Amino acid sequence: MGKVIAVANQKGGVGKTTTTVNLASALAYQGKNILLIDSDAQGNATSGLGIAKGSVENSIYDVLINGVPMKDTIVSSSRENLSVVPATISLAGAEVELTSVSHREQKMKEAIQPLRNDYDFIFIDCPPSLGHLTINAFTSADSVLIPVQSEYYALEGLSQLLNTIQLVQKHFNPSLKIEGVLMTMFDARTNLSNEVVDEVRKYFGTAVYETLIPRNVRLSEAPSYGQSIIDYDIRSRGAEVYIELAKEVLKNNGQTNE
Ligand code: ADP
Ligand code: MG
Repeated sequence: MGKVIAVANQKGGVGKTTTTVNLASALAYQGKNILLIDSDAQGNATSGLGIAKGSVENSIYDVLINGVPMKDTIVSSSRENLSVVPATISLAGAEVELTSVSHREQKMKEAIQPLRNDYDFIFIDCPPSLGHLTINAFTSADSVLIPVQSEYYALEGLSQLLNTIQLVQKHFNPSLKIEGVLMTMFDARTNLSNEVVDEVRKYFGTAVYETLIPRNVRLSEAPSYGQSIIDYDIRSRGAEVYIELAKEVLKNNGQTNE
């Protein structure tokens, strides 16, 4: 059965989408069958994997609000073994529309259930908030992967995120775990980055990945070509570190790369 991992942090710009797209692609590159669910109205994971938002017929919005089966929304990405449930700006309305739906926190989980056996991993790219969409992701997921930007105030807001995880554990999904904490935009040359990693390691212990994601300009360029870093520039440092992270994720889950 596939493992469902929500990639979440209510802060924007910390590397959630970059991590979802490139970790998913690195796992696909290593022979795993992957589904990426874009759950952010920005649709950056969708366009970053070469899917033109204008061409999207059914999106995650239709799944959550109109009851369209998730399998009818799945499209191929620019990477083999990696499929996407796309998001478009219509998803912006879902936060409000879900408010009046019964069992609103279960919609994503119910939609994923029939597809679980078809994939090794299912990733959910969460929006920068702790609203209904993120609660849906946490209710569906086996675990949460938390990207943290290596800057001052890195820990700020994380207690709120952990509280939300605890609330979901209590009410909807008792077995929800922390998959790992990923330090992003790390700069080995600065004391600051190193201090921040030490601080986050003090707080989260071994949940922090050994792999640190540095700032790498190729990672920020790749989305405008509709490609993950694996396809855009496999020899870049960015590709190297996300492949390393994929291996760490596989190892943590008792799997080896093929
Ligand atoms: P989020 O999804 O958390 O809002 P993104 O993944 O969209 O964050 O990243 C925010 C911005 O930072 C994007 O422009 C992205 O290209 C850039 N970025 C993310 N990670 C890196 C990195 N390791 N090196 C360079 N740029 C990065
Ligand atoms: Mg994002």
